[in-house]
Amino acid sequence: MIRLPVGVCIKPDAQKGVKNSLEEMRISGPYYVVCSKTMNIVGKKIAKQTNSDILFPESMEMDYIKKCASSLKNSGISTVIGIGGGRTIDIAKYMGYLSKKEWISFPTILSHDGIVSSRAAITERNDKITVNAKEPIAVIVDTTIIKNSPYQYTAAGTADVVSNISSVEDWKLGAELGEDYNTVAAELALVASKAVISHVDEIKNHTENGINILTWSLICSGIAMNINGNSRPGSGSEHNFSHALEKLNSPLLHGVQAGLGCLISCYLQNNNWKNIRKVLKDIGIKLTAKELGVKSDMLIKALVMARNIRGYPRYTILDRYNIDEKMAKEILKNVGLIL
Ligand SMILES: [Zn+2]
Repeated sequence: MIRLPVGVCIKPDAQKGVKNSLEEMRISGPYYVVCSKTMNIVGKKIAKQTNSDILFPESMEMDYIKKCASSLKNSGISTVIGIGGGRTIDIAKYMGYLSKKEWISFPTILSHDGIVSSRAAITERNDKITVNAKEPIAVIVDTTIIKNSPYQYTAAGTADVVSNISSVEDWKLGAELGEDYNTVAAELALVASKAVISHVDEIKNHTENGINILTWSLICSGIAMNINGNSRPGSGSEHNFSHALEKLNSPLLHGVQAGLGCLISCYLQNNNWKNIRKVLKDIGIKLTAKELGVKSDMLIKALVMARNIRGYPRYTILDRYNIDEKMAKEILKNVGLIL
């Protein structure tokens, strides 16, 4: 079954009208606000408006989230409102899933497509894991908050959407080998990429229209994944590279890693990688290990590890190569990521 949000509200100062928005969307309370500590002023205002209790999560550990969810389960609460960045959104998402409550996504940065996806990234004994959860019943984006958020997050979110280009290409390779291919999901993921690519300047200037386009593109990426029932439309070899970097404790944002991965994947896929490089540069993504503040060795290792990083098989361009250290170095040099 495909679950789509019943409401999407993207507007300036949306935080002031959350109660009205929820009424318009016919999403009933009682609500429960899960908010990141850095957004506590916004969270408290929304909790007051909606007459909700508020939680500032202390951890993204599985055990902690389970404990929070179990106290929510028999509480009479019907909807969890997640307010904050990726971590808080994922905690709210997983709490909603475990306690069988609806959840609303109120992201305060647009750094990746997790704002609408059904998967949550949490930790288990400090190890990052991705778990099944469910899609939000609504998405509310306050464009004033996004305008005032650090641009590096917006850049990362934009790069995450751009990375659909290589994931869909990988999917097509899988389809050649008999894998199911959902044209609508694939095209929707690509439309999202095209939309951000043709509006990079507006996104970069944090204009109302730019933020609108990025939000809808993140939502469309999420919906594409929901339509297909998994992350295939938005997660291929470039996300393998990102997962490998995470394993190596990379300090980079997820969307940045996915963007760099997309550059490498497009190079291997012979898919207009020079244009991807230009787009990433225009977005403001740093494109050398030095500028990124990471060791070349880490990028090399991640590329060697990428092919087999998933716990389940998913055919990608990496399966056509057996990338060893020497080859990884050469590829990274060719795309300009290392010297
Ligand atoms: Zn991603």
